Amino acid sequence: MRAFDYHRAADSEQAIRVAAGYDAARYLGGGTNLVDLMREHIEQPATLIDITALSQGITETTAGGLLIGAGVTNSALAADHRVRQRYPMLARALLSGASAQIRNMATVGGNVLQRTRCVYFYDTAAHCNKREPGAGCDALEGFNRNHAILGASPACVSVHPSDMSVALVALDARVHLEGPAGKRTMAFVDFHRLPGERPDIETELAPHELITAIELPALPLAARSTYRKVRDRASYAFALVSVAAAVEVTNGIVSDVRLALGGVAHKPWRAIKAEQAMVGQPATDATLEAATEAELAEARPLRDNGFKIELARRVMVSVLTELMGERS
Ligand SMILES: Cc1cc2nc3c(=O)[nH]c(=O)nc-3n(C[C@H](O)[C@H](O)[C@H](O)COP(=O)(O)OP(=O)(O)OC[C@H]3O[C@@H](n4cnc5c(N)ncnc54)[C@H](O)[C@@H]3O)c2cc1C
Ligand code: SF4
Repeated sequence: MRAFDYHRAADSEQAIRVAAGYDAARYLGGGTNLVDLMREHIEQPATLIDITALSQGITETTAGGLLIGAGVTNSALAADHRVRQRYPMLARALLSGASAQIRNMATVGGNVLQRTRCVYFYDTAAHCNKREPGAGCDALEGFNRNHAILGASPACVSVHPSDMSVALVALDARVHLEGPAGKRTMAFVDFHRLPGERPDIETELAPHELITAIELPALPLAARSTYRKVRDRASYAFALVSVAAAVEVTNGIVSDVRLALGGVAHKPWRAIKAEQAMVGQPATDATLEAATEAELAEARPLRDNGFKIELARRVMVSVLTELMGERS
């Protein structure tokens, strides 16, 4: 690991001011991803700005939602009684990720900004457009079992690894940002980018901008939502496919639904087409089949991951059937 400076910021203003003095500054949350990347010589920041002192609270918003500080740990968020009761898909997504020790360190801001787990990205001898723009992509013709089936480009076929982000997309969360140009918020679904020709640019974050909080809206149907993750081992593994879902059925008709997929795309994937195909339709198997068909029609398998299309279809159907059964 190369030598670096270390600063501990007392608040967001100080963190941004210190960061602005360096080209190669990185904010440090729990360090569970960033420090690994530094050890592997993939990230080589000149300066780390420790932001764990910032915003560790979870508070009620006036609109009936929750405001989650970026420094809240994954463990604390999963254990919060309001999250467990009002947004169980989020608590389950968090608990399905990593190990208890890592969740105790990992922060909300760091979790949504963790880098891909593509093996070629971690291998500095491999060609990777995300690490080095223009270098090529060894995953295209290489071992690509874990890679994307939706929204990929010839420049990059990696998937986003965060479980929490899948739930946040389904819940219509907003992300609160603060940087040299001031404060702003945006829909979480717009925060991560598809790879296009620049897979190295992964989010809409501006230089030196911080995530300060995530806001969950009041969403009554989320109280009986769920998250299901399919992976190679029962624990300590990233998703092959995951589904975050909430559904409302009124008099046998789907009146509202929130659906998102993980493990299938460069960003947490909101399944808008499936949602549109369900709302106003009878809560039946035929509706679910049509919805998954609509969502996966544009799926493009690579050499090793065609199974993900059928897996995504089955997990969506299974989760939605279970939720609709509870609600009809
Ligand atoms: C063995 C292992 C298994 C794992 N399994 C899973 C899994 O199954 N599912 C899953 O979702 N995750 C998994 N993870 C990833 C883990 O959840 C992430 O490493 C963790 O959430 C990152 O949070 P952190 O606070 O440690 O981030 P850090 O490592 O501190 O930071 C990550 C990135 O975010 C930036 N950053 C951090 N906070 C902010 C902020 N507030 N504003 C702007 N930038 C910021 C940093 O500069 C850095 O670029 C696993 C990790 C390991 C090591
Ligand atoms: S899939 Fe993306 S991250 Fe993996 S090698 Fe290709 S460019 Fe790099």
